Amino acid sequence: MLLQQQDLGAEYYSLQPQEIEERIRLRITELRDDILILCHHYQSQSLFQFADLSGDSLKLAREASGISDREFLIFCGVHFMAESADILAHKGQKVLLPHLHAGCPMADMATVGAVEQAYKELLAAGIMSAETDMVPVTYVNSSAAIKAFVGEREGSVCTSSNGEKVLKWAMEKGEKVFFFPDEHLGRNSASALGIPDEQVLLWHRGERLGGNSLEALNNARILLWDGYCEVHMRFLPDHIRQWRLREPDIRIIIHPECPHDVLTLADHYGSTEAIISAVQDSPAGSKWAIGTEVNLVERLQRQHPDKEIHLLAPSSCQCTTMDCNQPVNLLWLLDNLADGRVFNQITVEPAIAASAARSLEQMLAIS
Ligand code: SF4
Repeated sequence: MLLQQQDLGAEYYSLQPQEIEERIRLRITELRDDILILCHHYQSQSLFQFADLSGDSLKLAREASGISDREFLIFCGVHFMAESADILAHKGQKVLLPHLHAGCPMADMATVGAVEQAYKELLAAGIMSAETDMVPVTYVNSSAAIKAFVGEREGSVCTSSNGEKVLKWAMEKGEKVFFFPDEHLGRNSASALGIPDEQVLLWHRGERLGGNSLEALNNARILLWDGYCEVHMRFLPDHIRQWRLREPDIRIIIHPECPHDVLTLADHYGSTEAIISAVQDSPAGSKWAIGTEVNLVERLQRQHPDKEIHLLAPSSCQCTTMDCNQPVNLLWLLDNLADGRVFNQITVEPAIAASAARSLEQMLAIS
């Protein structure tokens, strides 16, 4: 969802990076009792340095929900993360995004209108006799509206660390599972559970019945929405083959948003937290090629100078939408807060938030 970011004004454009940093530090000191700054692992170091809390999206939202005495949660991440923080926030807390164009293209690939249409078509075609025949599962990287759709149908959210567990639960609960919005996390989780390929079907957005025959839909156990993360799609099997030729003792670890043909060649895969732990726990001198967003890989390089750490792909794989958040946007937000003006608040309608919370609670019950 693209919200319109208002112009910061001429005075901000002429500021030098050092001046911006100094002014942010002063504002943080001034507003200390009112603000909490949360930063996702993929956020650039220029913002990450100001984080009170850092982590993946769900960890941030959960940890922030344990803090009730700060009125403003400034979420340096993307839109769906700020929505999750708002759903879990305490009454009266406000979640702010430094730049409103910081969205997630993958989350935007599954709109609630398109998902409702898919359910209508499946019902009309007799693939399911009632909506309860299909258990919806959504990756946490999805809009609050999709999480609400899932919660209303007694499905569950999942993360990149519990995708397999949640998918297993869903398959035990219903005849079929519809997995949103990331094809690759769904396919990788299904493969880890040993589900045969012919029971896993891709739903092509915009095509009638997702571009599938009735027979294929009847035989399928898992339908995968065809969303993807453009950052993790840039990692290719050839990148792994090249590293293995160049550095035979290198270990390859990737994020499960990468395509399945990449994952099958890697030594390990896991969430951002799992990648960080694997590198942290490895002995000095270890060599790693990592398939995830470049800001996290570069941070690991700085934090572990005793290890050899590379980005798996030769060119930069950056979450450019998250990078819309820049220090100057944080400064602008803080300056306005200091003057009593609240900008860029992300709010989820109460009815949507209540249903979305059900799908998040379901995940917590499974995990
Ligand atoms: S890295 Fe990919 S999935 Fe994560 S926020 Fe960016 S576009 Fe979305």
